[in-house]
Amino acid sequence: MKVYADNAATTMMSKTAKEAMMPYFDVVYGNPSSLYSFGQDAKTALEDARAKVAKALNADPKEIYFTSGGSEADNQAILSSAIIGARKGKKHIISTKFEHHAVLHTLNKLEKQGYEITLLDVHESGIVTADEVAAAIREDTCLVTVMFANNEIGTIQPIKEIGAVCREKGVLFHTDAVQAVAHVPVDVKDMNIDMLSLSGHKFHGPKGVGALYVKKGILISNLIEGGAQERGKRAGTENVPAIVGMAAALEESVLHMDENIAKITAMREQLIEGLSKIPHGKLNGDRNVRVPGTVNFCFEGIEGESLLLLLDDAGIAASSGSACTSGSLDPSHVLLAIGLPHEVAHGSLRLSICEYNTPEEIAHIIENVPKVVEYLRSMSPVWEDLKKGVKEYVIQ
Ligand SMILES: *Cc1c(COP(=O)(O)O)cnc(C)c1O
Repeated sequence: MKVYADNAATTMMSKTAKEAMMPYFDVVYGNPSSLYSFGQDAKTALEDARAKVAKALNADPKEIYFTSGGSEADNQAILSSAIIGARKGKKHIISTKFEHHAVLHTLNKLEKQGYEITLLDVHESGIVTADEVAAAIREDTCLVTVMFANNEIGTIQPIKEIGAVCREKGVLFHTDAVQAVAHVPVDVKDMNIDMLSLSGHKFHGPKGVGALYVKKGILISNLIEGGAQERGKRAGTENVPAIVGMAAALEESVLHMDENIAKITAMREQLIEGLSKIPHGKLNGDRNVRVPGTVNFCFEGIEGESLLLLLDDAGIAASSGSACTSGSLDPSHVLLAIGLPHEVAHGSLRLSICEYNTPEEIAHIIENVPKVVEYLRSMSPVWEDLKKGVKEYVIQ
């Protein structure tokens, strides 16, 4: 049995998305900026897609800018707010310790350029509070950027409350909602969001396409020069097939959101229940305040990397953290941010499921993970020390 359980890294394209894209490769292939009908038909498709993305977020189509993905949207939102903030003498930015690297590395770059960055603690629960955000806001704060749902542990942040705090204090609020959009309800108006990033390939759309929502009236600067596309904010001929595919996938996900949430949550509960039986292991992050499909466990005395390789032999595709850091031996910054010691953070396993998974596949995971953990522990000198009492267990 082959089980794909790494949907937080990327997802399979839906049939709907794939079929929606097809005509835009070789039938309606004009440049949307061209005035003849080949171009105008592509332009119509582009604007239909923009309307669909806007509708999914309760935004206006004029507030949607297409990008090359979540990373670009994050970069644009943050760099743009920093440039505009600096013009008013505001060079302080607030974020959290467990953001995606598209956010953290952009903030690092700004720090080197003289900006001051405050990274808030996310506690053992993997949740920052609106009060903590409020307390960190200063006269010179130009931006608060807090992710909607974490990509490694799945916990959801109090976005609406954080947004309200930012509105009250007159500070811009951006959220990296790449793991939330199409998975849980997102309403930019109700949730007081000024800017939001999303990515097509995290919800059964194509890779290399995303969008940035920017509330009407908020100025953004452009990252890429060269043309009037995206109202001058993002030059370059639009990737029409990908944009159409992303919009189709998003529309489909939103349409089936309730049933998907119910189905995926039930399988997740099955997973948590099954894997919680493994001794000296624990679920990371708040038990309930999480996206439907993502769980992250730590098992003491083993290496996440070896766990992944053996699970691959059992047909299971999982992750030990984010796709960007797997392959490196550094423990995940997210797991360190929720207070796990290095040696425990190394033994982590992220499983992220979607509506295409089945209860039989979950049973396959529950059958194999304990076996692999036991096998790895049987060869682990660290586990030997823990058993003999030479070292103390961190996870009881
Ligand atoms: C995947 C992901 C990104 C990056 O999106 P890309 O489209 O792959 O650039 C950013 N933030 C989060 C939380 C993600 O999960």
